[in-house]
Amino acid sequence: MNQNIIACEKKVDIGTRVVLWNEKGGFACPNRRGRKALSQHSSVLNDAPTQKSSNYKIKNPQTAYRELIKTVHQFILHYDVCYTSSHCHQLMLASSFKGSHFYLDLDGTLYQTCDLYWKTNTAPADDKKGNERAVHVEIANLSWEALAKQAEYFPSKKDKYKKTGKGWKLSLPGEYKTMSNSFSAIPSRAYGERGYFSKKINGKVVRMWDFTEQQYETLIKLSFGLNQLLPAIKLKVPLDKNTGQHPLDRLKNFSRFTGILGHCHVQNGSTGLECKYDPGSAFNWARLHKAFKKVKP
Ligand SMILES: [Zn+2]
Repeated sequence: MNQNIIACEKKVDIGTRVVLWNEKGGFACPNRRGRKALSQHSSVLNDAPTQKSSNYKIKNPQTAYRELIKTVHQFILHYDVCYTSSHCHQLMLASSFKGSHFYLDLDGTLYQTCDLYWKTNTAPADDKKGNERAVHVEIANLSWEALAKQAEYFPSKKDKYKKTGKGWKLSLPGEYKTMSNSFSAIPSRAYGERGYFSKKINGKVVRMWDFTEQQYETLIKLSFGLNQLLPAIKLKVPLDKNTGQHPLDRLKNFSRFTGILGHCHVQNGSTGLECKYDPGSAFNWARLHKAFKKVKP
């Protein structure tokens, strides 16, 4: 079983299952693009429309890798506002431009959708250059769509998480039950009696249940693996040194940040793009920070 992530055909074993785009059961990114700063592909691939997949060739992987590690310095986290990664992939397929290098499913299974040499249109960022310098992961979580009173795309009479003896549990509709029957999606942490977290991000109160324990475990392994493969992505998350808090609003110098950050940290809509809130109020930034501090460089 594959455990490698791949950039310019170079592999790093991250110690957990990675389903690659060319495997049975894998998901291939439907809308790759070329990064403008890289020279080992035809520049026709930099812009829309998506070309046929045999056109996406990396001419010299060694040169490509040397260029890639100078270009990519951000790993950007997203929630996918979907039930599962397979659901998320359906939405990518329905789009003429969207994609994401990785999907992280409820049960901790990681999918890589294309070689990291390619660009995916996941977070333009307020300077509209965000995808050039980044790799992205879409983490399965419904965000506020799980709350009956806030659901817009997936309306329901009841909240999509139910309190059980084992904690809060996500109810997956039949068509999204892609995981083994014994698996329950339980948030890693619950907030008080109501279960969901609530914090203000870029001016909006975001209410959502936490990601699963399995997702955090894989995400930390993926972060270490990316740091090894693309060393300009530092094992670092946004942190206010004066308060010790992890900020959730867009950062001032977001384009220069080298490390792991959220879509909310790079895009608040001030230049005309959509305002973003992911990975949201429940995301445990302190846990990542702690995991990275344990290991000496
Ligand atoms: Zn996002």
